[in-house]
Amino acid sequence: MLIKLTISKLGAAKVALNGTPVRYLSAAMDKGNNFFFRQLFDTVSSTYTYLLGDTKTREAVLIDPVLEHAQRDADLVNQLGFSLIYALNTHMHADHITGTGKLKALLPGARSGIGKASGAQADVYLEEGQVVTFGCHQLLAASTPGHTNGCMTYICHEQGIAFTGDTLLIRGCGRTDFQEGSSEALYNSVHKKIFTLPDYYTLYPAHDYKGQTATTVAEEKKYNPRLTKPLDEFVDIMKNLNLPYPKMIDKAIPANKVCGLF
Ligand code: FE
Repeated sequence: MLIKLTISKLGAAKVALNGTPVRYLSAAMDKGNNFFFRQLFDTVSSTYTYLLGDTKTREAVLIDPVLEHAQRDADLVNQLGFSLIYALNTHMHADHITGTGKLKALLPGARSGIGKASGAQADVYLEEGQVVTFGCHQLLAASTPGHTNGCMTYICHEQGIAFTGDTLLIRGCGRTDFQEGSSEALYNSVHKKIFTLPDYYTLYPAHDYKGQTATTVAEEKKYNPRLTKPLDEFVDIMKNLNLPYPKMIDKAIPANKVCGLF
């Protein structure tokens, strides 16, 4: 029941990427233990990549792959006997080049996906309420703009997990001073789409710079030093971060507009 309520809050048409209406799988349905999850890391950009799979049907999805690790990720997919059907990005990254284009070449049959509002090219464009299905598992795409205008959070309700990209980091959040960033939009995205998830949901960000790997909705609602503040204070904090110009942005953005192939 809780899960149904959460989904309806997102309030958009529920259609799968192939255009067919989606029937949500409830947490009560027996899925056995066929959900595969693996967190991978890039030490240069501190990016997390996630491999999710259905161990029965062998269909798998990668979230936020990094170009330099495309071969590593493809090898892992092959070793585990998965067939990669989607390589998704949470947003158009400015700090690394995406591995989706190279993965498509290494693993024929894989399709790239990104939020429609990102302005990047991909095989599938995700919008609010769309569902990515792999085997008997589903990721619900929630539009969470603010870090960039095309940021998506991918929620797997049956597992109680969500992939927040740079919208929400562990005790932090993505910067909002470039790529059509907006502190107000990020604040609203977090408070309306992520903090409204059940407290126990585990959140997996796109990066961590301090060695942490995951957080929960409850922890961030209590301890996030920025997003626990009122909106005006949050906007002020973001305005005064004085962050340096991102080293990779001039290379990464043009490449990431075309799945990292340039
Ligand atoms: Fe980012």
